[in-house]
Amino acid sequence: MVKRKAMRVQALAEVRGSSKYPELRGKVTLTQMTNGVLVTAEVFGLPYKADKCSNGIFAFHIHSGGSCSGNGEDPFANTDGHYNPNNCPHPYHAGDLPPLFGNKGYAYMSVFTDRFTVKEIIGKTVVIHSRYDDFSTQPAGNAGEKIACGVIRG
Ligand SMILES: [Zn+2]
Repeated sequence: MVKRKAMRVQALAEVRGSSKYPELRGKVTLTQMTNGVLVTAEVFGLPYKADKCSNGIFAFHIHSGGSCSGNGEDPFANTDGHYNPNNCPHPYHAGDLPPLFGNKGYAYMSVFTDRFTVKEIIGKTVVIHSRYDDFSTQPAGNAGEKIACGVIRG
């Protein structure tokens, strides 16, 4: 009989666009590996322009808040700031991740990071922004409005 591999700790965030971006949806899986976490995002319905020099690039972060709710000005205000348990500057927040590169509204991104464990980010949120992350402006890389959000569930 084939032995099953030990179960890995895994979490999933189902991402949904704000009311301005109703077509936006996707899934982010986070899998605990021995030395870090494999983060994989697949997203559909991102905004895009036909112009070849304005392919969408979208900042992608784990935020410390636990709710994809907000107010008229910021529909995801309650996601709070970037997950930052070690009090580092941006882009050294634990929740800072590579951006999503759009392909006519579709994006797929996979990255390995040891900045956090899956257990510690369950209950927090994944946020997609309207702009790229410049990886220098404080506190959030001048990434623009929050266009999609998902709560990370174990
Ligand atoms: Zn950050």
